[in-house]
Amino acid sequence: MKAITVEPKKIGTAQLMDIPEPGMNEGSVLVQAVAVGVCGTDVEIAEGKYGWAPPGHARLVLGHESLGRVVDPGPSSGLRKGDLVVGIVRRPCSGPCPNCAVGEWDMCRTGLYTERGIKEIHGFMSEYWRIEPEYAIKVDPSLGILGVLLEPSSVVAKALEQVGLIGRRSFWEPKTALITGAGPVGLLAALFAKLYGLEVHVLDRMEAGPKVDLVRELGATYHSGSVKDLDFEPDTIIECTGVGQVIAESIQKIGANGIVCLAGIGHGGAIASSKIADVAASAVLRNNVIVGSVNANKRHWYRASQYLAKADRKWLAKLITRVEKPENFMHALKRTPDDINVVIQFSEI
Ligand SMILES: [Zn+2]
Ligand SMILES: [Zn+2]
Repeated sequence: MKAITVEPKKIGTAQLMDIPEPGMNEGSVLVQAVAVGVCGTDVEIAEGKYGWAPPGHARLVLGHESLGRVVDPGPSSGLRKGDLVVGIVRRPCSGPCPNCAVGEWDMCRTGLYTERGIKEIHGFMSEYWRIEPEYAIKVDPSLGILGVLLEPSSVVAKALEQVGLIGRRSFWEPKTALITGAGPVGLLAALFAKLYGLEVHVLDRMEAGPKVDLVRELGATYHSGSVKDLDFEPDTIIECTGVGQVIAESIQKIGANGIVCLAGIGHGGAIASSKIADVAASAVLRNNVIVGSVNANKRHWYRASQYLAKADRKWLAKLITRVEKPENFMHALKRTPDDINVVIQFSEI
């Protein structure tokens, strides 16, 4: 079967090639790939900056944002032939650490977890893949190809859950949410915050274009300036840019008792103009919490599938800005400023 594979940490090794069909050791459920989303992590792996092949293998099958159709449900999976499913990405560490032991692999303490398409387990960019039944999430059939948005949605569902859990340390009646960054995660965060009933604001750099339109169509407010110039103090900020200046300003802009959830990953950046102790003093005096959030466990995948099923299909469809064939995977890995989610389609839905 055809698969998109890469030799991790080696630039220019990504290629569409023939590999053997997956063996039963990869899971009792056999799935035909429908589509796989491409994100910044895939680009980094293809550029040789990240990623680990399975032990004993030189190459890794790429792809962690999956959607497929069950071909053979195997014994006792509760799935049926034809069901649309998405595969959970992370697997617990082998200790396991206490968090992995209770199914919270997103909170793994050792960092020795594995991840499909990223770290030591083959991903989903192959015509067929197998999965263990407990890691297959059934998708509402009416979502069709939009089910490929479930992986980034699970990351958002976890971030919002964290904010909700932290908020309940005191009386918590949030009204406003600011999302910084209008990429796939930011836009899904805006959607879910809106479904939750919050007044939603989204901030990014561009002044016009499809991302700005999507924010407005959601009934949210779009801002193109800087966080420090906003004329309100959000109850929660979901930070999706990973940009130093945006992070520093978010921590200073958050309202009393407010929570800043850091969900973006950046590198370097200018040293923040604010002094650390001044930032800390403001957090102390206003009971602020700054929390990092990554990945998702089964509870978040389940919650994300519920959110997606409730969302407006026409709006969701506009998040997928490009669909490429597997042989054009190199185009899929090159993103333009107006791209939101780029998807590689392996078979008809
Ligand atoms: Zn991703
Ligand atoms: Zn662990």
